[in-house]
Amino acid sequence: MRGEVFLPRSGFAAINEKQAEAGKPLYANPRNAAAGSLRQLDPGITAARPLRFFAYQVGSIERALAPRAHWDALRWLKALGFPLSPDSALCATLDEVWERCRWWQERRDALDFEIDGAVVKVNQTGLQEELGQVAREPRWAIAFKFPAVQGVTRLDRIEINVGRTGALNPLAFLDPVQIGGVTVGRATLHNEDQIRRLDLKLGDWVVVERRGDVIPQIVKVLAERRDGSEREYHFPTSCPTCGSTVERVAGEAMSYCTNASCPAQLKERLAHFAGRGAMDIEGLGAERVAQFVDAGLLGDVADLYLLHERRDALLALERMAEKNTDNLLRAIEASKGRPLARLIFGLGIRHVGERNAGLLAGRFASLEELCRASLEDLVAIPGFGAIVAQSVYDFCQEGRNQALIAKLAAVGVRPEGGRPPAPTDGPLAGKSFVLTGRLDSLTRGEATARLQALGATVAATVTKKTDYVVVGEDAGSKAERAAALKRPTLDEPALLALLAEAEGGGTPGAASPDEAPVPAS
Ligand SMILES: [Zn+2]
Repeated sequence: MRGEVFLPRSGFAAINEKQAEAGKPLYANPRNAAAGSLRQLDPGITAARPLRFFAYQVGSIERALAPRAHWDALRWLKALGFPLSPDSALCATLDEVWERCRWWQERRDALDFEIDGAVVKVNQTGLQEELGQVAREPRWAIAFKFPAVQGVTRLDRIEINVGRTGALNPLAFLDPVQIGGVTVGRATLHNEDQIRRLDLKLGDWVVVERRGDVIPQIVKVLAERRDGSEREYHFPTSCPTCGSTVERVAGEAMSYCTNASCPAQLKERLAHFAGRGAMDIEGLGAERVAQFVDAGLLGDVADLYLLHERRDALLALERMAEKNTDNLLRAIEASKGRPLARLIFGLGIRHVGERNAGLLAGRFASLEELCRASLEDLVAIPGFGAIVAQSVYDFCQEGRNQALIAKLAAVGVRPEGGRPPAPTDGPLAGKSFVLTGRLDSLTRGEATARLQALGATVAATVTKKTDYVVVGEDAGSKAERAAALKRPTLDEPALLALLAEAEGGGTPGAASPDEAPVPAS
C-alpha cells in the first residue's frame, strides 16, 4: 500500500518549539521536519513526533483480485482501517475535476497540512494499464499544481558549478527570503542565455519563484529598483575548477569545460555513478567522492573497484574509521552485479537517462556489445531518437570510453540482465506485438516476457508493421487503431494458444504464428 507520511502544521510548530527549548536548530518547514523525524536513528524519537499518514493507493496485491477502479481501492483501504484523505472525490467529468481542483486551491491555507497541488487520477484500472508509464511516471495520474509562490529579494552573487558532463551551471546566491514558509537562498539560472534573457546584474532586486519541490528560479529582474550600484556579470570563459577552455556547442545553450579529467566533472560523474538509480553504493555520497578524488584515490569510476587495494590509504582519511571503510568496500563490491540498465545509466552518457538506459539494456547483452553497435543499430531501437542514438554512438567511439569499459570488465563489474540470449532466433523472431486491455490469466508484464523470450518484440503503439495486436478486456484506442490499420488481432485464448504452441516448439507449423491467429470479430 502506498501513502504519504506528513506532519500537520500544528505538530510542526510543536516540534520547533521543543527544538528551540533544547537549543537545537529549527526545521525550515513541515516537509523537512517530517523527513527528519523519519530519519532518526532512535525509533523512540520518531514515535514521539506527531506524524500522520494518508494511504492513497494499493501498491501490489497477492492472492486476491485487484479492485477494478482506483475509487474501489480507496474504499477498500478505508474499510481495512487505513487513514485516507477525507476529501478525495470521484469526478465524472473534466469540469468536475477542474471544479474540485479550484476547491482545493481555495481552502489550501485553511488545511492543517501543507499542499502544493492536487493529484488527478484515471479511475479505471484497465485504462491505467493501457496508459502505462514513462520512466517512473505513470501517465494515468497528473498533478494539478497551484500557482507558484513568489518572493522578492536581492541577488548577491553567481557561482558556477561544473556538472558531470562538464556543463557549467550558474547558480544564483540570494539574500535569504521566506517564500511559502521556506527560506530561499539560492536559485538556478540554467545557463548563460538565461542570465542574458533576464538582463541580470549582480546586486539586482529579483522576483524568485518556488514551484513545488523544484529548485527556485529567478523569473524577473526589478529594473526600476536599480540604483547604479549593480555590476555586470561575465560568464566565465575558462573552467572555474581546472582553468581549461570552455566551449559552447553550436545549437546548445550550455557551455562545457573541455578537460576530460577535470576534477569537478570527475567528482560529479563518480557521485552519479554511485547514486540511486545507478550503482546505488550505500555510503558513497558526493562529499566522500570529493574526499577520495582530492586524495588522488579515484581517477575514473572503475577505480572504485580497486579501492580495496588501498584500504590503508582510506583509513588514513578523515571520518574513515575501520567500520566505515569496510562497510563501504563491501557496498562497492556488492554493486558489481547491478543490472546492465543501471550500469549504462551510471556511465552518464549525455541524453541517456533511466528510460533510455533501459531501452539499451533491452537491446544489448553487455557494454561490449553496445560498443560494437553501428549508428544504424542504435537509430533502429524503438523509442530512440536520432540525437540520443548519435550521443550513444559518439560515447562508444571515444577511445577513452572504450578503455573505461574494458577496465570495468577487468576489475570485475559483471552486470546482470541485459538482453536475454539469442531471442532473434526464437519461434516468434521478427514478429511484433502490441498488447492492449486486461488479460485474465496473466499480467501484461508476464505476457511481454513470454513473447520476448520467444524472440518477438513488444511495442507500445500500433503501426502498419505490427504483426499482432493482443486485445484484452476494456481495450481502448489501440484496438480501434488496430482495426483502422487492419492489423490482425488476438484475443486472450488465441494468445495463449499461440504461446503454448511456440513454447512447445517442435510440432510442424507451430513455429509459424501466421497460422495461429483468430481474426477479431
Ligand atoms: Zn574543468
